[in-house]
Amino acid sequence: MSAISCHNIIKRYGDTQVVHQFDLDVSDNEFVVFLGPSGCGKSTILRMLAGLEDISGGDLMIGGQRVNDLPPQERGIAMVFQNYALYPHMSVRDNIAFGLKRLKVPKAEIDTRIKEVSDTLGLERYLQRKPTELSGGQQQRVAIARAMIKTPKVFLFDEPLSNLDAKLRNHMRIEIARLHQALKTTTVYVTHDQHEAMTLADRIVLLRDGRIEQVGSPREIFERP
Ligand code: ADP
Ligand code: ADP
Repeated sequence: MSAISCHNIIKRYGDTQVVHQFDLDVSDNEFVVFLGPSGCGKSTILRMLAGLEDISGGDLMIGGQRVNDLPPQERGIAMVFQNYALYPHMSVRDNIAFGLKRLKVPKAEIDTRIKEVSDTLGLERYLQRKPTELSGGQQQRVAIARAMIKTPKVFLFDEPLSNLDAKLRNHMRIEIARLHQALKTTTVYVTHDQHEAMTLADRIVLLRDGRIEQVGSPREIFERP
């Protein structure tokens, strides 16, 4: 059984079709990267997986369950956004805990989980701060911690490194790879950066104008004779 199964998914905005017959199965533990130029439909597909955008046609299964009509919080998915999307008025701790609090998870368990994820991501020292008092890299770590704490079945990343400078981008990319090694959570990662795709992906989905142009391992995509 696939972790994610997309069958003939299409997306229209009014009369404009921006995603055409998107067919893809993602395996358990797999790290799949959607790669393509701006406007090719990467975010739209990711947002449909997340339940943040309606599907105009086709079927989407997550963990063997048809989720077209399931609300986002019932999909077992956690998303990390390009702009981090943290709550500016809340402390780092409250940002990380937010999803679990909403699910009425007991406080003791939330505290234990906060300790685990902040250890993993090196955030222990920043828990009392506000997001605005952190660097971009630290904010992105908080966003990842907020996603991780829900122990989702699937991680979705939407250009998570685009707002960081080159050095930090490199560093966070390695950190994301390491996290995946450790957690093995099924991941779909969107980027327009070929280097990110090559170094992170088990499999790359090359997109152009809302269609799949090619699917394969980094080697198959970039080392064609
Ligand atoms: P990418 O993530 O690859 O940059 P997007 O998925 O954001 O591409 O966009 C794909 C296409 O859909 C683009 O042509 C974009 O202008 C269009 N689009 C995205 N969101 C909307 C929307 N809410 N309304 C109308 N068109 C949209
Ligand atoms: P990104 O490509 O980084 O995802 P965009 O700036 O393309 O970000 O889009 C940001 C938001 O604007 C998204 O919610 C997207 O759906 C929406 N959007 C993108 N293109 C259009 C468009 N042509 N018309 C209306 N909304 C759009």
